[in-house]
Amino acid sequence: LADEDRESRPRLMLMGLRRSGKSSIQRVVFHKMSPTETLFLESTSKINKDNIHSFIDFQVWDFPGQMDFFDPTFDTTAIFGEVGALVFVIDSQDDYMEALARLHSTVVAAYRVNPNITFEVFIHKVDGLSEDYKIDTQRDIQQTTTDELADAGLENVQLAFYLTSIYDHSIFEAFSKVIQKLIPQLPTLENLLNILCANSGIEKAFLFDVISKIYIATDSSPVDSQSYEICSDMIDVIIDISSIYGRAAIGAKSEGYLEDQQDGHDDWTQQQDDYDGSNGNSQHPRQGTQDSRPPSALVSNSSRAGSLNNHPVRTSDNHEAFSVIKMGNGTVLYLREVNKYLALICLLRAETFEKQGLIDYNVHCFKEAMDQVFELKRAERTRREMEANQ
Ligand code: GDP
Repeated sequence: LADEDRESRPRLMLMGLRRSGKSSIQRVVFHKMSPTETLFLESTSKINKDNIHSFIDFQVWDFPGQMDFFDPTFDTTAIFGEVGALVFVIDSQDDYMEALARLHSTVVAAYRVNPNITFEVFIHKVDGLSEDYKIDTQRDIQQTTTDELADAGLENVQLAFYLTSIYDHSIFEAFSKVIQKLIPQLPTLENLLNILCANSGIEKAFLFDVISKIYIATDSSPVDSQSYEICSDMIDVIIDISSIYGRAAIGAKSEGYLEDQQDGHDDWTQQQDDYDGSNGNSQHPRQGTQDSRPPSALVSNSSRAGSLNNHPVRTSDNHEAFSVIKMGNGTVLYLREVNKYLALICLLRAETFEKQGLIDYNVHCFKEAMDQVFELKRAERTRREMEANQ
């Protein structure tokens, strides 16, 4: 999917003052660093291009806060021309007047070069603020920023604000929203998820980029953060379990799952039953500084138990992994690999899951439709390239 078309892939850029938290965000979201380890990160001192091989394969450009747009050697066209979304990080625990001034000059400079950029302001480190103070801070930052941009004649800028922290899921949710704006197929994906849910009795379905735990699409029923957190925790659980128990953990294909059950791998069954999801907003013990681990490593390598490669390995296209967690409250979490970057996670009632055959079949249809959506895009691109070459 993503190996081609490197140039035209949406690019995401992360900016902000020194010590605002950019490197921490990058490490926690894209490199599975645990939040407490960020305390020892060295501050950013150079432009840092991070190529992330996930579904969208966006780049995070980590800019030092001291960048001067008015320096004539600073090539704004080269820097902002290709950017899809510019994420500006503000440390909410600090005096943010300087950050706001910098945000303003950044928006002005970037918008001039590329009016299609979406500007995303992360009001960051809100874990240290009380609820009231959070709301006041957001209101103040939002008001000041929009007023100043309006004074500069830029009221049409696409600007959105998020309250974020690396110590909970808010940073992942914010990134999900940012990334979704950059996916042109989003309405089609949402529609496919709606159809899947309606025909299978599924209550909520997310399409996750497994490496980053960002969801790139969901059905149109409202997202409550608890469902999102449980699904994203499920990915952690599956990664941890598969690295500990290997083959026993996950059915690499349907027959594999049945075999595993018959083999009596009680460990996994036990894990399923014990996991009641009550620690919805906790951080699962992540595996330290492990690099991004692609879903295929966690799902498809049944014969290579526990191996965690940094590059997706596809043993065969038939190897569709899936995993089921039954929770104490009668909810079932159902995860299925969609392609080498994406996993579908559904929340449904245990009664509904009794008709697993139907659900498996509908998920299969969903996957085929997804393939077609991206195949169409590829075909369209090839056609355009051929036309351009003539
Ligand atoms: P950078 O210079 O913008 O790259 O900032 P760093 O990523 O080096 O972060 C500076 C400090 O902020 C580090 O000590 C981080 O641990 C801390 N930090 C980052 N994100 C958060 C957050 O969400 N909450 C809190 N409380 N601290 C954070």
